[in-house]
Amino acid sequence: MELPDKATCYRALSSRDARFDGLIYVGVRSTGIYCRPICPARTAKYENCTFYGSAAGAQEAGYRPCLRCRPEIAPEFASWRGTSSTVSRALALIGEGALDGDGSSVEALAERLGVGERQLRRLFLQHLGASPIAVAQTRRVLFAKQLIHDTDLPMTEVALAAGFGSLRRFNEVFKDLFHRPPSTLRRKSVVDRTDAVSGILLRVRYRPPYDWDAMLWFLEARAIPGVEVVEDGVYRRTVEIDGEIGTIEIQHLPQRQSLGVTIYFPTVQALPAIVNRVRRLFDLGADIETIDEHLSRDERLAALIAQRPGLRAPGGWDGFELAVRAVLGQQVSVAAARKLAGQLVALHGRTLPKERIRHAGLTHTFPAAKRIASASAIGLGMPKTRLDTLKAVAQAVVENPNLFRASGTIEEAIARLRTIPGVGEWTAQYIALRAIREMDAFPGSDIGLLRGAEKVLGVSATVKTLLNEAEAWRPWRAYAAQHLWAADATA
Ligand SMILES: [Zn+2]
Repeated sequence: MELPDKATCYRALSSRDARFDGLIYVGVRSTGIYCRPICPARTAKYENCTFYGSAAGAQEAGYRPCLRCRPEIAPEFASWRGTSSTVSRALALIGEGALDGDGSSVEALAERLGVGERQLRRLFLQHLGASPIAVAQTRRVLFAKQLIHDTDLPMTEVALAAGFGSLRRFNEVFKDLFHRPPSTLRRKSVVDRTDAVSGILLRVRYRPPYDWDAMLWFLEARAIPGVEVVEDGVYRRTVEIDGEIGTIEIQHLPQRQSLGVTIYFPTVQALPAIVNRVRRLFDLGADIETIDEHLSRDERLAALIAQRPGLRAPGGWDGFELAVRAVLGQQVSVAAARKLAGQLVALHGRTLPKERIRHAGLTHTFPAAKRIASASAIGLGMPKTRLDTLKAVAQAVVENPNLFRASGTIEEAIARLRTIPGVGEWTAQYIALRAIREMDAFPGSDIGLLRGAEKVLGVSATVKTLLNEAEAWRPWRAYAAQHLWAADATA
């Protein structure tokens, strides 16, 4: 999708059209500021406006973010630019800090994506109107701005959390951009004290509609005892990042079209990673309107979408955890898989230290791959072949920690996963969908999918006929699958 023409953009701006929020940004020459299309400020004159497809594009052109409409909290799209999966993948990696810090480079990023550096720059320019470096810089600035605005973290911690190498660098960048020190951007009273004990609350936007009930129901049915709890409309889980342990709580803020993410974690450097994982788990980057529109061309799916507008495809919190779930789920029910996962956690997970326990049901972290790979016995009542598969997955992750990162095409990802002994087509597709976030993945042999398809498509579905039907749903077969599963579950 390319930027609409200037007249269309200007109409969106004049009418403060929320449908364009996150898709276009306007740089105003007379003020040097860039805004979201929904900015409450008086609309600038047509001749002073330049439109951009990303905040980074506006920022690279020399504009600074507006303090009123706050571009840092615009909904962010991981995959709406469906025309370039390379760009989507690059954005995901940049979001994880691939271009932060001294050792990083665009060249290394391009290599991870399997493209040349020049090609990557060209794709960024074409799809985002900005260079990869500008995108990374803008992310840091905007995340820092959100932390300044919404928390009372000290500036040194804001700088660290946002991925600036030093406080000095952070101050320089902000003074350059806003012509004043970062601390002056802070609101006078931040309501809550924010630290690792009382938690940091961040709001993360999505593009409506969002079927929160379906998401929560999905997570609740699969919640791993000891690691996850769904209660009173809140999803809670333990997290372990770089050896540190904490917990997070996520709730829906429908009026703000956001999720409220409360993070209890000892180091602020983990904040971007945590927010990123939340985005992935809750599928916040989806341009659901475009996806639903595409799938609705099939009238049988259109009926499902009308019933569940904004149904998302949940991601996995962690690649290894998700892969283990997939293996435990081979040939057994969701409930049985969940029970096995709970046993695995009790046997091999790390126990939360007393002072980190915030909920009686959150007692362990999910076991690390290293632990499972080196365990003399796993201790689960399962067929030996499946225990061997579990070990093989753990071993593969130990050997290649980037196993679940997107690189290359979806076919390559599936082939890579299938080299693990015991991982067949179904398991590979399932992992690709939820862990690697290949939104065209489609585990066509899934029993639930076949049942859902039979019900909805009115044909007695075989794997072959279903895969044939699914050709028309590309490149978003994962969302079609989610609708079929939902249809099956309500049968
Ligand atoms: Zn504005």
